Amino acid sequence: MTKTIKEPAKEIPVLMETEVLVVGSGPAGLAAAIASARTGANTVLMERFGCFGGVLTQVGVESFAWYRHEGTNDCEGIGREFERRAKELGFTRPEPQSISEVIDTEGFKYIADRMVTEAGVTPLLHTQLVDIIKENNTLKGVIVESKSGRQAILAKRIIDCTGDADVAHRAGAPYTKRDKDKLMGVTVMFTCSGVDANRFNTFVNEELKPTYADWGKNWDVITDKKEDDMFSPFMEEIFTRAHEEGIIPGDAGAIAGTWSTFTETGEALQLNMVYAFGFDSTDVLDITRAEIEGRQQAIWAIDALRHYVPGFENARLRNFGMTLGTRESRQIEGRTRVTKGHVLNQGRCQDSIGIFPEFIDGSGYLILPTTGRYFQIPYGCLVPQNVENLIVAGRCISADVIAHTSMRNMMCCTVTGQGAGTAAALSVKNNVSFNELEITQLQSALKTQGARMD
Ligand SMILES: Cc1cc2nc3c(=O)[nH]c(=O)nc-3n(C[C@H](O)[C@H](O)[C@H](O)COP(=O)(O)OP(=O)(O)OC[C@H]3O[C@@H](n4cnc5c(N)ncnc54)[C@H](O)[C@@H]3O)c2cc1C
Repeated sequence: MTKTIKEPAKEIPVLMETEVLVVGSGPAGLAAAIASARTGANTVLMERFGCFGGVLTQVGVESFAWYRHEGTNDCEGIGREFERRAKELGFTRPEPQSISEVIDTEGFKYIADRMVTEAGVTPLLHTQLVDIIKENNTLKGVIVESKSGRQAILAKRIIDCTGDADVAHRAGAPYTKRDKDKLMGVTVMFTCSGVDANRFNTFVNEELKPTYADWGKNWDVITDKKEDDMFSPFMEEIFTRAHEEGIIPGDAGAIAGTWSTFTETGEALQLNMVYAFGFDSTDVLDITRAEIEGRQQAIWAIDALRHYVPGFENARLRNFGMTLGTRESRQIEGRTRVTKGHVLNQGRCQDSIGIFPEFIDGSGYLILPTTGRYFQIPYGCLVPQNVENLIVAGRCISADVIAHTSMRNMMCCTVTGQGAGTAAALSVKNNVSFNELEITQLQSALKTQGARMD
């Protein structure tokens, strides 16, 4: 049994009171806060780290729309605005496997600041949610910790965009989380400098010639077959060889993956080559171990790249992502659960808040949206059970394993974020609960904001 102590109750100051509080500022939280403020609600966006952006800026994932091909029927809305703003400000580069552009992860910290400020959202950085304030089943606010100490924020509506459903979990809303040996892998992302991109590209195009079918060699990935011969920036075999030949001295099981873009100054960005299984990102001891083991694996991956890969001979570690990247943890059990069948059969729904292309990446699947197929996203997957005043967006929405693997993608998180933010603002304005909200009114507000419903 876990040893416990009793924490004494104490009076704490109220830091802020607001109509809508968004907790967590990844693609979902940013879209939620901007949408809420644009719909007219007084909105606070709080974030535990010193920059907005979530996985994009904190882990260093730049491939915002790598699924996009000529035939893709894509969503519209705040996520597309992120891309346009990044391009206008010179913070994009061509993405190697699609017709999209990556968003520079450092530049996006600035873009997020600008968009949050322009929308009139009240920003709150370096502030971690540690508990919730609830009367019966109704959320009234949250308890936070920061350099200013322990404080409360009171809010009429709260949007949980923490990725891990921290608010829903603490509020007692039901959720699922797979056993940790089944959860998708976690990643320490890294960047190298000193890389000769021309030599590397010659090697890739003339020798490696990687395709999506290569993902299947040791990973057992189901594709639609249409993906198999397409170019994919994926590398695995050299790491197996490096292990066999002693360049990687330890367990290399976690090392394999993709590269992304190169800068003109010889940096290889977003090296997504460490994929470690068996860690639960809601367990502090697990994430401590994953950070330390992940950094070791990244160093071994660089040793292997220097040894075997033309262009990487003089590569040096430039940086690690500022935090471990989590792909999967808690999924709330919402009013509606999105299923694999819905995603793979162009699911339609009365309560659509937006669309997302038929794109699945992970949990044994790789399906790219090259044919124009897409599904609608139901409002019901954002609305948790048993707790009032709470709505959820981003990767922790209500979805089964395969639907999650699609909906966890950043662009889809912006769709659920925009839906949740608009819903929260309307529910305050009309003084109705999330369950009572008139769906046609929500849909027409989203259309006015430029979101695509069908
Ligand atoms: C290594 C890796 C590679 C990926 N590659 C891609 C890719 O190429 N393309 C793609 O589209 N998607 C990719 N994904 C998936 C995608 O990045 C995430 O699923 C997506 O960012 C989730 O968005 P979100 O807004 O729900 O959560 P997050 O981006 O995780 O944001 C959650 C935010 O909440 C904050 N937060 C959490 N808890 C608290 C708390 N208690 N108090 C205050 N703040 C808190 C966090 O600091 C963070 O800013 C990848 C994910 C990983 C980990």
